[in-house]
Amino acid sequence: MLAYGDCHLCPRGCGVDRTAGRRGTCGGTAELRIASAGPHFGEEPCFTGTRGSGAIFFSGCSCHCFFCQNWQISTFRTPGRALDADGFHALALDLIARGVHNLNFVTPDPWWPHIEVLCRRLRAEGETIPFLWNSSGYARPELVARQAGLVDLFLPDFKFADPDLARAVMGDARYPEYAIASLRAMVAAKGFLDPFDPTGAEPARSGVLVRHLLLPGHVENTKRVLRLLHDEFGRYLPLSLMSQYLPIPATAGRPPFDRAPTADEYREAVDCALELGFENLFIQPLSDTSDFMPDFDRDAPFDGNRGR
Ligand code: SF4
Repeated sequence: MLAYGDCHLCPRGCGVDRTAGRRGTCGGTAELRIASAGPHFGEEPCFTGTRGSGAIFFSGCSCHCFFCQNWQISTFRTPGRALDADGFHALALDLIARGVHNLNFVTPDPWWPHIEVLCRRLRAEGETIPFLWNSSGYARPELVARQAGLVDLFLPDFKFADPDLARAVMGDARYPEYAIASLRAMVAAKGFLDPFDPTGAEPARSGVLVRHLLLPGHVENTKRVLRLLHDEFGRYLPLSLMSQYLPIPATAGRPPFDRAPTADEYREAVDCALELGFENLFIQPLSDTSDFMPDFDRDAPFDGNRGR
């Protein structure tokens, strides 16, 4: 099993010994930290279904985009609760008992050793629920190939096709090359989403769906991402084109990131996706996005999950 010593679990390759309490870019030691867990209704319908996706939000993140929508937990400002392997297992069993359609590991890359142990244990116990890898796309392809031996569903972001933008936002111009290589590994291992039911009546059980979040003032980056994905994977690649970016405290005074995308910007992005011919495309209304803008300082971070 991969360990947390000399950590190279993501492209940062910090090489720190997390078992000794050291922290790399992601901020995590070897002590598993969970920021939030519960049935979640904010994913695409093919994951949310009727009973919700069993979302497990980990603390920390190796990307460190300065506009991170989950900034409270990705920066460890809200550190979450520590769990050992048995506690993690009990949390997963509780979610399964609540009827969720999948176990949804959100920002999982820095925590792969714990997740691997959990998934192997659940499968050995006969659990058949799909495991969903809900990630930033900033991953090492050779690890993706290994993860695909246990994970059923991949839901990676594809944030930047522009290396300069990646450098400016997260401090690593290599994001596009890692994202495309790891996405190739995901598609090679699992194919596209199966079944692809945009109503959610029949939730997906395996395969890949890619997400892209439109950034304000950066439609050209979005178009480059769309063209890259189309050239590489074709028009049947399942794709979710998201409009839900909202400014956070760290984006104040950093235009254009200090505002939401405009309707015209999103329309231009959607037009580009349609012109390229993407068939399995989720688009998002601009108006109703704040229900799933989380506040991890609360026990129930998402207004949109209330009463479900
Ligand atoms: S998982 Fe964290 S410590 Fe490990 S290489 Fe990535 S950022 Fe560094």
